Order: sequence, then C-alpha cells, then structure tokens
Amino acid sequence: MSGREFWIGTSWKMTKSVAEAERFAAALAAGWPGHHGPLRLFVIPPYPHLNRVAGALRGSPVLVGAQDTSPWPDGAHTGDVSAAMIAETGAALVEIGHAERRRDHHETDDLVAAKVAAALEHGMRVVLCVGESQVIRDEGRALEHVTGQVRAAFALVRPEERDRVLVAYEPVWAIGEGSRAATLPEVEPVHAAVRAVLKDLGQADPVILYGGSVNPGNVDELARSAEVDGLFVGRAAWDPDGFLGLCAAA
Ligand code: PEP
Repeated sequence: MSGREFWIGTSWKMTKSVAEAERFAAALAAGWPGHHGPLRLFVIPPYPHLNRVAGALRGSPVLVGAQDTSPWPDGAHTGDVSAAMIAETGAALVEIGHAERRRDHHETDDLVAAKVAAALEHGMRVVLCVGESQVIRDEGRALEHVTGQVRAAFALVRPEERDRVLVAYEPVWAIGEGSRAATLPEVEPVHAAVRAVLKDLGQADPVILYGGSVNPGNVDELARSAEVDGLFVGRAAWDPDGFLGLCAAA
C-alpha cells in the first residue's frame, strides 16, 4: 500500500439485526485501525440501521453510507428514500448502481446517473458500482462496457462535484456466493481504462476500488497494486473481526 491513501469499505446488503448492527458499529468505533496507515474506511448498512450506525460512528474517521438513493427529491414515491433524508442521518456517501440493483430492480444507466446527481447535490460522496457480466467478458467487451457505465453515470455531474465520485469495479462474475475473485491481470487493465476515463471527465485524482470475493487470502496482493486504490468488500467483512482483519492486512 506504500503510504498512499487506501479505501476499505463494506456494504452489509440485506443482512444484520439491529443488535448485530450496533455491535459492529461499536467494535469499529473502538477498533478503528488508524495505526495501520492512511486507511479511509466506510460501512454501508441497510436503511433501517443507518441512523444508529451513523450515530455510533459520529466523530470517528469511519464514513457511513446508504446502499441506494431515490433519484427524486421528495413527494409521492412510496418505498423510496431521498438523498436529503440520507444526508440528514449523517451519512457521508451513497452506493449507487450495484449489480444486484441493476439485476433485481432493472436499474438503467440513466437511472444510475439521476441517483448519482441526487446524492452529489446533497453533499455526499458516491460509490459508483460498475462491472461486466461473464458473457460480456467472454465477448471481449469488458473495457468498453465498464467505461461506458462510468461515462453514463457522469451525465449529470457538475464539474465542482466530480471529485466526490469513487468508482468500485465489481465484475458481476466475481461477486457473491460461488464466485471467484478477479485476478490482478483481470483487474488492472480495467482500472487503468476507468482511470483514463475519469481523468478525461476532469477528475484530478481518481479513486478506483476493486470489489468481488475479496478475502484474507487475496487482500495483500490486491492492495499492493498501484492500480487499486481500495477494496469494496461483502461477505468477508460482514463481521467486525473480518473487516478489521482485512484492514490490518491491506
Ligand atoms: C459485492 O457484492 O459488492 C461484493 C463485493 O461481495 P463479495 O465480497 O461478497 O463478493
């Protein structure tokens, strides 16, 4: 990792009771591994736990985020949660465009762009998730697909907001149960292509995380790559020891 800022975050997806969320937040507040170098940490609980987790981590350097936002500012949108409401909890970032939302809720690039704009308007950072399916990779179109997703997500981003967008490259075939992590030779060309696009879009210092089956066995190799500015972790970070262990190893 060599002294540079390195991001590690986890989304809890649809897991954890209130008690489990509180235990995790308390462990993180107590065990933030500042002594492990310039780590930037974040956790992304489900909406119902957002207030409690943000409250427990207020004043700590660990950022708290939401797993999604409504593209609409307010009003008659049953089931939606606005970016203003999310920001009010103390959340500092919003995850947008995760593969599971694109799959389960048919989220398009246009919708992702509207959500990115909503989160930025309320002063938060965005963790923009992008990634190709196995079919697209097999067709040799991974770079084209992923850079296209990034460009599309920036459609409504104002120049003064663009540095608040972090990109998480999460190949669809690498995330979740039964998948394998991408290898560095698979990750690095995509990160390099995304970095070039982000610079072209005006970002001064792009931050590109890798996500997909990160675990204690591959964290070291991934964190050593100059192309990888951080890790976005699911299963391996769903308990505080797992999360803090990965932070220590990075
Ligand atoms: C994810 O779904 O974003 C993810 C990174 O999951 P996992 O680490 O469990 O593969």
